[in-house]
Amino acid sequence: MPRPTAPVTDTHCPYCALQCAMSLTRTAAVDAVAPRLPVDVAGRDFPTNRGGLCKKGWTSAELLARGDRLTTPLVRDATGELVETSWDAALDLVASTVLRIRDERGADAIGVFGGGGLTNEKAYQLGKFARIAIGTSRIDYNGRFCMSSAAAAGNRAFGIDRGLPFPLEDLDSASTVLLLGSNVAETMPPFIGHLVGAQAAGGLIVVDPRRSATARLTETGRGLHVQPAPGTDLVLLLGLTHIVLAEGLADEAYLAERTTGLDGLRRSVSAWWPERVQSVTGVPAPVLRDVARRLAASDGTYILTGRGVEQHVDGTDTATAAINLALVLGLPGRPGSGYGTLTGQGNGQGGREHGQKCDQLPGYRKITDPEARRHVAEVWGVPVESIPGPGLPAVALLNRLGEPDGVHALLVHGSNVVVSAPNVQTVRDGLGRLELLVVCDFFLSETAALADVVLPTTQWAEEEGTMTSLEGRVIRRRRALDAPVGVRSELWIMHELARRLDAPGRFELDPSIVFDELAAASAGGLADYSGLSHALLDTGLAAHWPFPVGSGGTPRLFTERFAHDDGLARIVPVRPPKVSESPETGEELTLTTGRLLEHYQSGTQTRRVPELDDARPEVFVQVHPATAARLGIVEGGLVEVSNRRGALTVRASVDGDIRHDTVFLPFHYPGDASANLLTQDAVDPISGMPDFKRAVVRLRPAADAPLPEATAPGALR
Ligand code: SF4
Repeated sequence: MPRPTAPVTDTHCPYCALQCAMSLTRTAAVDAVAPRLPVDVAGRDFPTNRGGLCKKGWTSAELLARGDRLTTPLVRDATGELVETSWDAALDLVASTVLRIRDERGADAIGVFGGGGLTNEKAYQLGKFARIAIGTSRIDYNGRFCMSSAAAAGNRAFGIDRGLPFPLEDLDSASTVLLLGSNVAETMPPFIGHLVGAQAAGGLIVVDPRRSATARLTETGRGLHVQPAPGTDLVLLLGLTHIVLAEGLADEAYLAERTTGLDGLRRSVSAWWPERVQSVTGVPAPVLRDVARRLAASDGTYILTGRGVEQHVDGTDTATAAINLALVLGLPGRPGSGYGTLTGQGNGQGGREHGQKCDQLPGYRKITDPEARRHVAEVWGVPVESIPGPGLPAVALLNRLGEPDGVHALLVHGSNVVVSAPNVQTVRDGLGRLELLVVCDFFLSETAALADVVLPTTQWAEEEGTMTSLEGRVIRRRRALDAPVGVRSELWIMHELARRLDAPGRFELDPSIVFDELAAASAGGLADYSGLSHALLDTGLAAHWPFPVGSGGTPRLFTERFAHDDGLARIVPVRPPKVSESPETGEELTLTTGRLLEHYQSGTQTRRVPELDDARPEVFVQVHPATAARLGIVEGGLVEVSNRRGALTVRASVDGDIRHDTVFLPFHYPGDASANLLTQDAVDPISGMPDFKRAVVRLRPAADAPLPEATAPGALR
């Protein structure tokens, strides 16, 4: 049982990018009459959550007292079993194997896979560790599956990528919000408090093929739920932009003063008149006109995108089309209006700023930029030529596991790739070909269960550090408890491995010192943290980056200029791509995947919380009643969902909240219940984002088939 430290600790939720503020109050955990968790969780007043938490946050302390917590390093023995070992033995084994493979095959035969839940300090140190302790270019992270398309589009249009370029509270005064492909009512419920104003004004417009919990918020007053066919969001956005331009609704003065590229946009949207858009998306032309006019008529309009429109092979272009629409309406940087994208993972924003991405160095610098390389090399105390060049984005990295020119040892930090990666059987097969798989985690995740070495790490309430929320605000994560005996922080693990690898540079143990180094490495970059420190953040300062030395931070970007050298936003014309995978017969359906209120990402944590597991114990497929009737599928009946990549047997949830041509699977479940057995690993050519939201599947009743073991209620109890 963890040992409490201070009586009350102010910190933030371990899960999503809203990073709701919470207080952890220590309890008399050892109580024979009524055993309690080591801390009580309470919501704390903070601009984003205003004291509220969702059920994931409220129950997060359950994870601190789990009996299946990893507390000892594990190695796989000659019989194939994972057995306990000492830290020295585990780290010696990792280091000696890495050195051998590096000698035999070169440094790029070793891969590092990070996570969007790691603190800024860990994410920074991991990028440095990969590049100068191992010497590999092959580092990427699971944020590639999450924010990469929105990031690429933001960089292209604005010259910078910060999910929300304004504080979340700005949304409170919005009268019209167009929310594309985001189910915030389930993924981050306290967020919807910021939509109340737009909802009351009848200005909430939700675009989603499903009638999600968020889409249902539009059912009061004049709200609108727009339900396009999956994968047609880009055409929908081209159509809306066409109407704005054709009807003279564009902000011509803004376009002239603050943008470049309008002529190309006019040409690219000219062929997308409303009736043609209707024929592709299924959204009636009058609805399209209504949406465009509402966006233009409102004084306070915001356009927000989420993974629903970004997790596609055309995700970057779709996010770009949303930005183009925002630009023709004159929204970005205008007080009381804006464009933004909603980050998913807890540190999805900070995790992509400090060097986990295969093409970036700390401070959101390009790894190919000679000046950026020189600056970072100086901070790291290494020759500039020792920093490798760009590596491989996540899907390419994972699809080369065990291949002759690929990765033969993989170090995984804070990611459960055998559940979360697309076309996941390919990844499972690849992991089996590795000479060494090392997983750092606090539970034996499904990926850790396959590892050669498992290293037990601290949880959120046991560590100090910083996270960067969806609005680009750097916040403090604070330690409320000592970690169980035997557990170590990733910073300690990297320090020890770097020593064994005889690495150049320093690998500090203290998160505040690592942060200071991160701040120095970021100085002058796009994501400049150089004016920040743990001590300054501890004052409660609202610290939105860029925060160079001497500045007060930047709550609102783009008020005067965009981040390109000329200060102008780029309007980039985009066109619909060839569809990567389409139904070939009338029998096939489009599969889209997503999240549930009760679970977070691969479910490693939330499937271990009884209240959450009881509420959503097993995977299901959501099917429209007409489709179910046509296929002989009944509510609660077993259904085989299959395509050329795999098959799942799941229960049917039959309701009218989904289009008749679409089915939905949540992706939180492992093993034979993984939705990612069916998703495709085709990627966006610009961002490397896989297409999680569109796969072709067949459904048939499967009355005699057993349910997959991994979905049995209480599988992790
Ligand atoms: Fe945690 Fe996100 Fe829920 Fe807030 S909304 S309590 S950050 S999971």
